[in-house]
Amino acid sequence: MANLKRGCRIDRRRARQPAAKDANTSPVAIVKRKRKITSKPPKIDAIVVRADPIKSKLADRELNKRENWPKTTIYQSIANVVMGEGCSEAVKDCVKNGLKPKNKLHCGCGPRDRCEENVNCACYQAAKSLQKAFNHASIWTSDNDLPFNKEQFDKFHCEPVVQCGPECRCKGRCKLNVLKKMDEHEFIIERHDVNKGFAVYTQKDIKKGSPIMSFNGALSGYSGVCKDEESEQYSIVLMDGKPEADLAKALADLPNIDKQYSEQLKKTYAGSKLWINPVKQGSTSRFLSHGCKSKIYLASRVQQNFT
Ligand SMILES: [Zn+2]
Ligand SMILES: [Zn+2]
Ligand SMILES: [Zn+2]
Repeated sequence: MANLKRGCRIDRRRARQPAAKDANTSPVAIVKRKRKITSKPPKIDAIVVRADPIKSKLADRELNKRENWPKTTIYQSIANVVMGEGCSEAVKDCVKNGLKPKNKLHCGCGPRDRCEENVNCACYQAAKSLQKAFNHASIWTSDNDLPFNKEQFDKFHCEPVVQCGPECRCKGRCKLNVLKKMDEHEFIIERHDVNKGFAVYTQKDIKKGSPIMSFNGALSGYSGVCKDEESEQYSIVLMDGKPEADLAKALADLPNIDKQYSEQLKKTYAGSKLWINPVKQGSTSRFLSHGCKSKIYLASRVQQNFT
């Protein structure tokens, strides 16, 4: 009866049965796996928005008919990240706490306060502490390029930059919200080659260093992205579970969020693997194609809360 792991229990009726007559046989402990208790994920309402236009322009007209398109072209267009499947209890708790008003990151700056240089702005303070922690040349404002470069690509998920958002008093109209520039771009999703599938196009030049689009979808754990082939192919890694000392320290040092919450974030960021699954709910970015000499890369940004 040794070697019973914590979390398992013995079927006692069976264990109490007398030993078999054969001297070489010892009583058998039947080990049942304890049922995992999983809590309901917090509800995050999807912000449903108009999808970019999508067209199939193949030579074969039959394939261009909408009813013949692959089922992955059907999705709900959303402007945020919602809760998906397979998230750990720690992640669910972090999201729940991040939704509490006291843990939201927003500032009370008026239109003349200029968040991008206001030392009293909560968003500026958070942006500054993360800039310091990651050794970025500057914080990310409308006057500066994104403080990332190609060499930092692999670290995108662990070097978030802070931006003002709609819940700030400035409504995110200040220079500390570069993401508002994403609304200026126009994209179209087209298919010209049946093997390459649908891809994203634009007819206007985009300035180097500009944010292009956000990758929206369902925050998912391992089982949430392994459940089907489409999820495996379309999901991207948000956190890879490697302990990131810089990020952990930066989060624990943030001046304007609850200490208990920042400790929880620190642990969760260091130990969780998370993906964003855009198959059922997502945005135009789910159609971006792979490129060996890619001109765009992914960066992580924080707006309104850290989860
Ligand atoms: Zn502000
Ligand atoms: Zn703000
Ligand atoms: Zn602002």
